[in-house]
Amino acid sequence: MTIVQAQAIPIKLPYDIGGPKPTFAGIPRQMEILFIRIETDTGLIGWGEAFGLSIWPATRQAFEHLVAPLIMGKDEKDISNLMANLQKQLHILGRTGAVTFALSGLDIALWDIQGKAKQQSLSELLGGAKHQSLPGYASLMRYGNTDLIKHNTERALEKGFTAIKLHEQSSEYVQAARQLMGPELPLMMDVNCPWSVAQTLEMLPQLQASNLLWLEEPIWPPEDFRGLKKIRDKKSIAIAAGENNISTCHFEEMLAYGSVDFAQPSVTKIGGITEMLKIMDLCQHFETPVMPHSPYFGPGLLATLHLAAILQPETMIEYSFADLGANPLGDCILMRQGRIDIPSGPGLGCDPDLDILHEFRVP
Ligand SMILES: [Mg+2]
Repeated sequence: MTIVQAQAIPIKLPYDIGGPKPTFAGIPRQMEILFIRIETDTGLIGWGEAFGLSIWPATRQAFEHLVAPLIMGKDEKDISNLMANLQKQLHILGRTGAVTFALSGLDIALWDIQGKAKQQSLSELLGGAKHQSLPGYASLMRYGNTDLIKHNTERALEKGFTAIKLHEQSSEYVQAARQLMGPELPLMMDVNCPWSVAQTLEMLPQLQASNLLWLEEPIWPPEDFRGLKKIRDKKSIAIAAGENNISTCHFEEMLAYGSVDFAQPSVTKIGGITEMLKIMDLCQHFETPVMPHSPYFGPGLLATLHLAAILQPETMIEYSFADLGANPLGDCILMRQGRIDIPSGPGLGCDPDLDILHEFRVP
């Protein structure tokens, strides 16, 4: 079989987070998903997701102008060689960013096709799911307001979540959530790289009262693995990072330094399922738990579910705390009482609703 069609389909969904929407690079956050659709000459269709947010127009360009022409007529079953060759062919144009996001979407779609061709779910292809469902944690966007943080922490608890991550940068905000949650439930703080090593060390005593399961990406720049190690060496709070690593080699470096307690590879950013599997092997070697980065509502979330399903012990799934005005993957990506089922159908286990893709497609 060969690849005969490759499309990038951006959609923008209405959504509500129980407060004002945060901004990325000054642009109000939209719920954009960049679907990747690959079709073979035998009519099999695979779906992937390339990292979206405000970068999706660049990722779409990279996919349509760089990636798609290189894959026409190629054997879609030969995923690892095809992806390795594409990485080499395109490396001058970006080892991360739009090019690598586009490749990630392609890789996910190719694995979806592989599963459909063999009538096996992705986790079956990867050796079999160890879990039928996994716990999710509510990943709250940034509110920067104590009342809104309390309100939405309460809403998350009411919906059955038993773990919550805040994207806030102040100890008062996490303490407000901790008071509502009680002392035991897992609470995490993701600050998105604002501080120097010295500033982070100053923050640690203030954060300790909140009994955080982890502090995520405290320092700038995120690839300062030696700096992260200095924070971790204080043994005050566990450290998580990895969503901004640019390659599998980067993960190896981070893990070898011993910079983190939890590694957070992101399937739509790092090169798809092929690279995630290599990173998961590295994490096993370095005895570091994988906590996948997955604030997605598209095939990126499905791929993450299957990957997480083959891990022991049970890992948590990052789940964006947002009510969608439309949901192209329907029940397959719904959290119920804080848990989410691993889809059992072939490939990713769930194709998008084409009517919803059509209705919310960005013109
Ligand atoms: Mg994060």
